[in-house]
Amino acid sequence: MNHKSYVGRFAPTPSGFLHFGSLVAALASWLDARAVGGQWLLRMEDIDPPREAPGAQAAILHTLENYGLEWDGEVVYQSLRHEAYDEVIERLFRQGLAYACTCSRKQLEGYNGIYPGLCRNLGHARDEGAIRLRVPELTYRFEDRVQGLFEQHLGREVGDFVIRRRDRLYAYQLAVVLDDAWQGVTDIVRGADLLDNTPRQLYLQELLGLSQPRYLHVPLITQPDGHKLGKSYRSAPLPTEQATPLLLRALRALGQTTDTAMEQARPTEVLAHAARHWNPEAIPRRRSVPEADLH
Ligand code: GLU
Ligand code: ZN
Repeated sequence: MNHKSYVGRFAPTPSGFLHFGSLVAALASWLDARAVGGQWLLRMEDIDPPREAPGAQAAILHTLENYGLEWDGEVVYQSLRHEAYDEVIERLFRQGLAYACTCSRKQLEGYNGIYPGLCRNLGHARDEGAIRLRVPELTYRFEDRVQGLFEQHLGREVGDFVIRRRDRLYAYQLAVVLDDAWQGVTDIVRGADLLDNTPRQLYLQELLGLSQPRYLHVPLITQPDGHKLGKSYRSAPLPTEQATPLLLRALRALGQTTDTAMEQARPTEVLAHAARHWNPEAIPRRRSVPEADLH
């Protein structure tokens, strides 16, 4: 593969600081791009202001810089992309591929998060509620570079899903698909918590005539209680002075070999070395790895 043909990205949500699990995902994505001389873009997924943690955006950029994870070009902000999202929602609604849903949370209890289609044929006006995309009664499948074949029946396992919320905020599924295509992303490397979101994204790509990127989902780093690492566990930004040891730990979490000489190296040296030796085949073929198992 030549450098022109690979475009990767990291797409953090500023609902909290980067934690060790997000560092693992960012590092894998960066290495996969840099190992082939590809581009690595940065997109701030700031579509949910009420959930945003004050200072998180700046802190995320700061951590990436301090850890040597340099990106190409300007940061893309989803908060500046509303027109593009609206245009697609409007079109899908007009074509009858999406519809307004006025169901309350209470009405949807007991369906295990699978929307039962109550508003499918009620013809609510567009701005009356949330906007849901009709899903076909079909299985969507893809070959993940680490996790192997993944498939999901959209009708039975997901149901018609929200692309714009009742409060007019845009849904992640829609924004991520439009922006990955708009930015020309060829390769998505991210945490395995998003594996089961991918079939919805494949359906959107198909519907909108967008090309399908390659996917690589890295294991999620979990707490002893099985929970994903997240802002509830990690309230502080990743420490700058720990960049080298944490990068080495993240490399080991990705199954990459490290040597003790690197413990004294600067983050950029660790990264350059890791990019030369990047071996995606060595990534554990697991959905999650407990943090306690890492050394
Ligand atoms: N913004 C999402 C998150 O932080 C990731 C989106 C993606 O990589 O597709 O979980
Ligand atoms: Zn409804």
